[in-house]
Amino acid sequence: MVSLGCAKNLVDTERLLRQLEANRFEIIFDPVDGSKIDTAIINTCGFINDAKQESIDTILQFARAKQNNQIRYLFVMGCMSERYKNKLQEEIPEVDAFFGVNELQNIVRYLGGNWYKELVGERKLTTPSHCSYIKIAEGCDRKCAFCAIPIIRGKHISRPFDEVITEAKNLVTSGVKEINVISQDTTYYGVDSYKRRRLPELLSALAQIRGLEWIRLHYTYPDGFPLEVLEVIKKYPNICNYLDIPLQHISDHILRSMHRGITGAQTRRLIKTIRKTIPGVAIRTTLIVGFPGETNKDFCDLKEFVKESRFDRMGVFTYSHEEDTAAFELKDSVPARIKHQRYEELMVIQEEISRELNAAKLGQIVKVIVDREEDEFYIARTGFDSPEVDNEVLIPRGIPALETGSFYDVRITKTDSFDLFAELK
Ligand code: SF4
Repeated sequence: MVSLGCAKNLVDTERLLRQLEANRFEIIFDPVDGSKIDTAIINTCGFINDAKQESIDTILQFARAKQNNQIRYLFVMGCMSERYKNKLQEEIPEVDAFFGVNELQNIVRYLGGNWYKELVGERKLTTPSHCSYIKIAEGCDRKCAFCAIPIIRGKHISRPFDEVITEAKNLVTSGVKEINVISQDTTYYGVDSYKRRRLPELLSALAQIRGLEWIRLHYTYPDGFPLEVLEVIKKYPNICNYLDIPLQHISDHILRSMHRGITGAQTRRLIKTIRKTIPGVAIRTTLIVGFPGETNKDFCDLKEFVKESRFDRMGVFTYSHEEDTAAFELKDSVPARIKHQRYEELMVIQEEISRELNAAKLGQIVKVIVDREEDEFYIARTGFDSPEVDNEVLIPRGIPALETGSFYDVRITKTDSFDLFAELK
């Protein structure tokens, strides 16, 4: 099983693996070179060019392995398959079958297995056993001009409240201590099926699950942001003072062209309110450079915004001209060289900000969870760090030995741009 793309895709992979496990399939993630594999399944990402290229390269790698008789069957699923099934079928005939994003049952049946209804909501975790994602909805009702996800994943569908809570309780029973709440538009939770925003209630209910020590919120949307969420984060100590809120840009002209439904001034006000309501909150955001029509002035505004906002965590994407999106009607006017230059400029600014924010933590005592051992270090994270995407804390291995999946209080002894070094308090 190969799972590409975002954590939302990973949850689908884990749901499929639970069903395959129940059908007594032997599941391997890192096949030994030259070993024979019966079936390879690739869960693809089809979001933007780079991700699509990675998916195609992976499919071709396994297509070659099939030609060399290292694997018998090759299946492709997920967003790329959903979006380009027909074209891929023509171009890569080695693939035995392509499945869309809502076809887990079909895959199991195609493999000759049974679909166990009673296991819906259960997953075979691929993350470290102490931490997991929980997907609270599928699809998106927003109309961001650059985004193909609504085309791939369809309309926003919130999962039933109790089903999410039951899944979270099962995860905690199985040893999970940290849950990252995800969907395409987390703040929209409940609007479709309950006709009102229910994220604050859902977070409160999650926070009351005994043994769930860290809850972290991802993919919140700035326009119409439900401020009650901030009160809930503040109220419960086991909800991390952390907020992932992709903002994409700050220039009114670009935000309008992106159909983001919010202005630069409103964005600034929201960031101020978030910081005022939750002092010391870590804000993660994502920005896009090179959107059609982005002028030097727009980019200078964005640079100023990044400097003044001093985000704790920040990702930057170069605009990808995606067919069938609203932005595809616009001219992809910013040359690739300029897109890349703007990307680099923002990352350099952010690296300096991150270095300064980290340096201010020197000598502090922070609570961390140990994820793994690597060379001479234990690799851990603070409550301000989401797995895979944020910073890490490196603790030299020594006596006493630390346990993976356990929490410790550590003192920060050294800092660099992104990671922290620490010793047991
Ligand atoms: S909120 Fe916008 S960017 Fe995010 S998935 Fe929906 S349409 Fe795409």
